[in-house]
Amino acid sequence: MSDLDALRREFRQRFGAEPRVFRAPGRVNLIGGHVDYNDGWVLPLAINRDCFVLAGPRGDGLLRVRSREFGETVEAALPSKPSAEHHWSHYIFGVAWALGEADVPVVGADLLIASDVPTGGGLSSSAALEVSVGLALSSLAGTRLDATALARACQRAENEFVGMRCGIMDQLAACYGRRDHALLIDCRTLAVHPVPLDSTRVRVIVANTMTRHALAASEYNRRRRECEEAVRRISAARPGVTALRDVTWEQIEALAASWPDPIRRRARHVTTEIARVRAAAEALERGEYETLGRLMLEAHHSLDEDYQVSSAELNLMVELAGELPGVLGSRMTGGGFGGSTVHLVRAAAEDFFAPELARRYEARTGIRPEITDCLPADGANEIT
Ligand code: ADP
Ligand code: MG
Repeated sequence: MSDLDALRREFRQRFGAEPRVFRAPGRVNLIGGHVDYNDGWVLPLAINRDCFVLAGPRGDGLLRVRSREFGETVEAALPSKPSAEHHWSHYIFGVAWALGEADVPVVGADLLIASDVPTGGGLSSSAALEVSVGLALSSLAGTRLDATALARACQRAENEFVGMRCGIMDQLAACYGRRDHALLIDCRTLAVHPVPLDSTRVRVIVANTMTRHALAASEYNRRRRECEEAVRRISAARPGVTALRDVTWEQIEALAASWPDPIRRRARHVTTEIARVRAAAEALERGEYETLGRLMLEAHHSLDEDYQVSSAELNLMVELAGELPGVLGSRMTGGGFGGSTVHLVRAAAEDFFAPELARRYEARTGIRPEITDCLPADGANEIT
């Protein structure tokens, strides 16, 4: 989104005032699938795609929001409640509500939203939107929230106002992103540790399969219950275990041998995935990109075979990528049952990789995938 001047002009014309400008990035998770709600670690990076929010205060308690992408303006007096039907403005009114709950004195505002984070493509346009709006509204209120408090308020907006039971990874990544770094996030303590990622050596590429299966939401909830069931069984033998994060697969393998097959598989995925994330962060720290790539591929197979959340299209994308030169690793990313894959590719191979992967996927499926080249970027800020 290079044309901030045009956006400023649009804001002035629409709302008759000079805006302040805020941004927050999308994200992609390199490794750590379905471990956030098991208190594990994840390894995302904020990316060079942004949601911009142009904002001006209002004294009358009204929140007016224009989304460029949806071509629609919505206004309501604060505090407002979500309507029964899902609407994009719920993310924004939800953030206003959650900030209020966190004692930020949110006043009315005019907001113009413009984002180049693709929606529903696995790059978390929703968290980019929440965090940029959260930063804008708290700044207009004259409150400096620390980044974790901002991320929490945004997650709460999505959980309780929008009604999506998401973890906090996306919002933390949008807040804490750092140029040339991935982020090792401890989902139990919310500690964030930046790890260097050298874009002159490797590139992170996201391929959207353009498919989404209706199962996603119900299966997601089922997986969460299965993990809770595994924890119940473990804690009977090992008091003090409150999440799968508290055990390794080696510690529970014998115990799990008698469990129902799905519960055993889910526990094996989560415990081995957590170990892979930690190994991946160490590999990244040392610049050992081949190791990181190998771990990503292992993670994909574990998500497919043990966690059973992959799909034919995700598997095809991973398989096709594996046939191309310069690919170090690939996996599905996000909840699964469609959505996107993430690939680690040698920088020198990138120009060939993206169009060739798109060509081969389209030849096999008749569907043109959306491919995004992601550079690790800074977290949310005000543009002055
Ligand atoms: P994603 O993986 O992109 O986060 P979600 O379904 O979680 O997918 O969030 C996408 C939703 O977020 C959109 O359907 C819309 O409601 C909201 N959203 C994202 N970007 C914008 C935008 N630029 N303007 C208005 N709403 C947006
Ligand atoms: Mg989202």
